[in-house]
Amino acid sequence: MRQALLVGMVVVGLAGDASAQGALGKVAQGAVNVNKARGLADQIKDLVITEQEETDMGAAISARLREKYGVVQSAPVHKYVSLVGRVLAGSSTRPNLAWTFIVLDTDGVNAFAAPGGYIHITRGALALIRTEAELAGVLSHEILHVTEKHTINAIKKAKVQGAAAETITRSELLEYLIDRAYENLLENRYDRGDETASDQGGIRLANGAGYAPGGVGAFLTRLSERNKDLKEPSGVFASHPETKTRVERLTKQISSEKLTATATVAARYTAAITYKPVPVTAVATTATGTTPAEPQSKFGLGGLSSKLGVERTNTGAVASAGSRGVNPDRDAKGGPNPRSVTVTVTPAEVAAFRKGITG
Ligand SMILES: [Zn+2]
Repeated sequence: MRQALLVGMVVVGLAGDASAQGALGKVAQGAVNVNKARGLADQIKDLVITEQEETDMGAAISARLREKYGVVQSAPVHKYVSLVGRVLAGSSTRPNLAWTFIVLDTDGVNAFAAPGGYIHITRGALALIRTEAELAGVLSHEILHVTEKHTINAIKKAKVQGAAAETITRSELLEYLIDRAYENLLENRYDRGDETASDQGGIRLANGAGYAPGGVGAFLTRLSERNKDLKEPSGVFASHPETKTRVERLTKQISSEKLTATATVAARYTAAITYKPVPVTAVATTATGTTPAEPQSKFGLGGLSSKLGVERTNTGAVASAGSRGVNPDRDAKGGPNPRSVTVTVTPAEVAAFRKGITG
């Protein structure tokens, strides 16, 4: 343990006067050395990210999530989740993004939306979900995070203490944003306004496709029951307002906007998804230092973060060695295979699938 702490401090290159606790805190937040910290905030604020860059960033973030949690190596499961997702994404405000739906191989209950249309949901979440309408509710919420560019906006708005402006290239800047976005996603760190916007837009999207709009609320209520003995928020929707308030607000919206779709499509869901939920106390978590190395993105590894003296957050080490407890969903052990499972979904298949959404 002591050795791990020392290594951590050397890696981030913090000044000698920092206490071990303080150093770990800074690693957890991915903070940068304030002394090197001029100009970066302005550069990030002014950065206009092209759609191609957004997609590239999303691909890099997705690669890290796949490396951390592994991918369920089942084409039928990916096909089913992709069909539900494509029905919804096709009616979103960005129907032409290359939407990709990925099932992560972990008992932890989580969902992550990476920029550019990479939507991830865990095997643990699928196990807790009981109907296609609930799945549609969760996917719609995540789709809204992408269409509204919440992740990119959040990192652009975040307080940045950085950096030696003259030496930063554009790809280094993007690499830096990828680091921050990945950390934010793992922590489910969105601002409340964005969460509310995703909730509201999400149930409209699901309802518009014919799904009973109460799906996401039913899932959230079950998730909160599962997590009732946890001291800290865990996993998906961790940053959200209290579940009860949130579900009440969704219920009010359903009534005031007369969202009257009724399809739950439970039978098709249980035919496609047969995972059994694992109690939160039984979810295996990663031990210190076992977070796998992150694959290289097209922007190059290290780059700006190294220049600034920032090491990527190793959540396993932070959770075990830091003051915070292990977060069972974020730190859930992942499966062994990060390989993507590619499935083709034709417009005709989406249209046929859509016809099966009936109450
Ligand atoms: Zn959210």
